[in-house]
Amino acid sequence: MQRFQYYIDGTFSDGEARFESLDPATGTPWAEMPEARAADVERAVAAAYRALHEGEWPRLTATQRGKLLSRLADLIAQNAQRLAELETRDTGKIIRETAAQIAYVADYFRYYAGLADKIEGAHLPIDKPDMEVWLRREPIGVVAMIVPWNSQLFLSAVKLGPALAAGCTMVLKASEDGPAPLLEFARLVHEAGFPPGVVNIITGFGPTCGSVLSSHPKVAHIAFTGGPATARHIVRHSAENLASTSLELGGKSPFIVFADADLDSAANAQVAGIFAACGQSCVAGSRLIVERGVKDVFLSKLKAKAEAIRIGGPLDMATEVGPLATLRQREHIDALVGRALQSGARLVCGGSAPRREGYYYLPTILDCDGTDSPSLVEEFFGPVLSVVSFETEEEAIRIANDTEFGLASGVFTRDLARGHRLIRRIRAGVVWVNTYRAVSPIAPFGGFGMSGHGREGGLAAALDYTRTKTVWVRT
Ligand code: NAD
Repeated sequence: MQRFQYYIDGTFSDGEARFESLDPATGTPWAEMPEARAADVERAVAAAYRALHEGEWPRLTATQRGKLLSRLADLIAQNAQRLAELETRDTGKIIRETAAQIAYVADYFRYYAGLADKIEGAHLPIDKPDMEVWLRREPIGVVAMIVPWNSQLFLSAVKLGPALAAGCTMVLKASEDGPAPLLEFARLVHEAGFPPGVVNIITGFGPTCGSVLSSHPKVAHIAFTGGPATARHIVRHSAENLASTSLELGGKSPFIVFADADLDSAANAQVAGIFAACGQSCVAGSRLIVERGVKDVFLSKLKAKAEAIRIGGPLDMATEVGPLATLRQREHIDALVGRALQSGARLVCGGSAPRREGYYYLPTILDCDGTDSPSLVEEFFGPVLSVVSFETEEEAIRIANDTEFGLASGVFTRDLARGHRLIRRIRAGVVWVNTYRAVSPIAPFGGFGMSGHGREGGLAAALDYTRTKTVWVRT
């Protein structure tokens, strides 16, 4: 069994407690992880607080911080294969996807390396001739970062990049499900030469580690990605330290297909939009809203593609859909499919676990027309697409907005004027038109409503990790 260590104050250690990580492709233990508890969290936050105020880090120029970030990006690129394999091994996410995503991870660090010395203050033209007044931008402080199991490296990069560019220090808590890639990534942070305590990477369980971290009095900001129920805990914890929060939460994203769309291209985007990462993606296009006249033809395209998907071992490059990350996740999905069928939804394909070891679930399509299926409102976080049809543009918009979430959305039409009307009216943080899942470090990302608040990506994310100081100088 492989053993991993956590990284606190520039040192790797085993931790007093440990737990086993299961291989989702077989359900058997493959690695041992250090479990951080209250005392470890305390040490990690103390180290981050020290590094924020003392030693080398606060004295580095922004350009020097940028160089460290750039070095980290290079190391990620050089170690891409190993990081991808570890993420695949520990979470079941297929190697094709983890390998492609690592390239993005390096891109995000490069982008923020370039932004570090572009975070500027401002001079204020106050109406007093004998005063010079300006705003300094300073790091917001110690940041608690808490991430879920899916895409841990990517979801951490979008937090670490801007926070480091801004000069913050941090304690990053990897998910207890699949922490291996982040614990390994800590070795690259060390090699890149960040001073001790600037980045601390631990893992542990929500109630014994995450809650201690998010309510710690020395934490100034909590950057959280995960489910809405945990987000409520986090916000309650933030009442303890009056920390600001950014919350990237779940979704039930609408994928709207009009009859005039390029149906083949839309079908490819829909299949990737829901079945990539075995559906364990916050932006999964999990509600297909299709114009009634093309529903049957579109569904038959989707069914053929879904049934042709190659299911297999996650480390096999030929595999297109691998296992879910945990047994708990599969049980949740199976139960929700069961409730959908009870409510009258019709099974188009899938709907069960294939006969093999590991936490697999078949790519599933549920025709929910004429039902009030719970699958239309609750997040699966799995490979299940729920379908409803519409007749008018107005009806499509109404169905799309009939959700407490508001993360992503897709619109497929050849009529761009209509595309623009929908862009205006869809309540979601991202609207993709005739494409789906496109991302870039330059483009902010985040949700409305129960999908959270705050944005990751772009310059604004780096500014969110700063606070301003107003300076008055009598001349
Ligand atoms: P989760 O909320 O259960 O766990 C996320 C993290 O929170 C884990 O590290 C966990 O240990 C920690 N945690 C749990 N309880 C805690 C507590 N009481 N205090 C502090 N920390 C605690 O989420 P999950 O089930 O691991 O991940 C799936 C969810 O994440 C889905 O809802 C998904 O949509 C969402 N997600 C959102 C995005 C996005 O960018 N919007 C991206 C990926 C996943």
